[in-house]
Amino acid sequence: WFEAHLAPLRLDGYEPAVIISLRDLTEARRVERMRVDFIANASHELRTPLASLLGFVETLQGPARDDAKARERFLGIMREQAQRMARLVDDLLSLSRIEQHLHLRPDTPVDLTMLVAHICDTLAPMAEESGLVMEIELAPNVIVPGDRDELARVVENLVENAIKYGRSSDDGEGRIEVSLRTCSAAAIFTVRDHGPGIASEHIPRLTERFYRVDAGKSRSKGGTGLGLAIVKHIVLRHRGKLSIDSISGSGAAFRVVLPLLQPDQIEGL
Ligand code: ADP
Repeated sequence: WFEAHLAPLRLDGYEPAVIISLRDLTEARRVERMRVDFIANASHELRTPLASLLGFVETLQGPARDDAKARERFLGIMREQAQRMARLVDDLLSLSRIEQHLHLRPDTPVDLTMLVAHICDTLAPMAEESGLVMEIELAPNVIVPGDRDELARVVENLVENAIKYGRSSDDGEGRIEVSLRTCSAAAIFTVRDHGPGIASEHIPRLTERFYRVDAGKSRSKGGTGLGLAIVKHIVLRHRGKLSIDSISGSGAAFRVVLPLLQPDQIEGL
């Protein structure tokens, strides 16, 4: 897309001329389109549980008013829908907060080894419930400059996704591998699962807001579709890199590379 401006130019002693200026609007249009899509998606995601809540309120005020059993069941569903909306609003707020501070570099020393170990401990029951064994291999004392809560969010989202999507079938035992190692001046955090994996055409779009390979599965697992967008923004803010590798049918590996704390930053420790 281009915007064109024409302006006549008359200078004494010269032939009349015309100035043509062209402005490339491709990027501006793309950004505007993304903004409009984002608002439409967010509204849709909020409207679905809201419609369900309103429907149940009407049923409880009307036909199910005196049915104690139905009331209990409906209230349970309403609670789930309200929780889904709360998760969505929390994720939207996190994303906008991180985007606002994208240019600021968080620099508190964070012990990534301890952080990953703690999160794996917390998520172990969820993995067990899903029939998954977690193999954890952590290099000691991996320290990076950053924001502890944000880095915790990255680790949590990636391990949770491996638990949510990392089972190839409902029977049989699955395995997910979580590792943390260092390489020259970088920390490398990897989460690998052996589930159904992700077809290559989806991989470049996974970090877009609300992009899901299977929306039904994501929603049934409590997903908002914003997890990987949040991960990508946090990693960017930490001057790191997120890469996703997957062969459809053979699992997926999510890798985050972060700069290690430099010796001159250690003084504050
Ligand atoms: P959600 O809330 O839907 O989990 P995410 O942004 O975390 O949102 O992930 C986006 C989509 O990427 C998911 O809906 C799922 O389709 C896909 N995905 C994420 N992690 C994995 C994984 N380990 N294996 C297969 N698919 C995955």
